[in-house]
Amino acid sequence: MEKGSVSQNSAPRQGARDQCSPGSSRLRPGRASELPADVRRARVQQQREKRGREEAAKGAELPALEAAYLSILQGLGENPARQGLLLTPTRAARAMQFLTKGYQESTEDILNDAIFDEDHNEMVIVKDIDMFSLCEHHLVPFFGKVHIGYLPTKKVVGLSKLIGIYVKKVLVLVQERLTRQIALAITEALKPAGVAVIIEASHMCMVMRGVQKMNSKTVTSTMLGVLREDPKTREEFLTLIKN
Ligand SMILES: [Zn+2]
Repeated sequence: MEKGSVSQNSAPRQGARDQCSPGSSRLRPGRASELPADVRRARVQQQREKRGREEAAKGAELPALEAAYLSILQGLGENPARQGLLLTPTRAARAMQFLTKGYQESTEDILNDAIFDEDHNEMVIVKDIDMFSLCEHHLVPFFGKVHIGYLPTKKVVGLSKLIGIYVKKVLVLVQERLTRQIALAITEALKPAGVAVIIEASHMCMVMRGVQKMNSKTVTSTMLGVLREDPKTREEFLTLIKN
């Protein structure tokens, strides 16, 4: 499977398919395109104002983060006045703000206008979605792949937006909670009959400290609804993400 590619089950369920593929014209545009121009303009304005508020909040938090990184350098016995380190506290503080930007984005923001009413009730599978996060125990990255399957009832979500939830949501987390949060976000947004999320990730806090071998992965999963209750449906999902 190609990096970040989206797989769709062909067999064993008939009718399942890649929402992004040609021939998926049954997917109607979401609510946004049906809205009157003035409502759309008001939404854009609201989003602009929200971004402005977030930028202001980030600016206010920056000095505290810079001071923290300065003391980390001092704690490591470095000389923060050395040329190469002069701007490091600022750069590191900005990088940390970027890496944790998921805190400022709600699932609703990301999914806004991406949910479609669709009379489609076959399993939708999206696999090999790249994910990055920071483990909350060490503030060190863990990264890997997310595989998602859900059984829609009436609503499906644009795949790019679905992927966006996880790629954008770079948070300070533990993998188990991230897995569950993704499953709950999909449940909340789509009210599907069932959802399954699997994350396979390498944790740098283990790899770099030599506890774990380079290629070993931590695998976590959350299954909800029929994907939890019905062994056949769960088996189907597991088979499809393996292929
Ligand atoms: Zn860790």
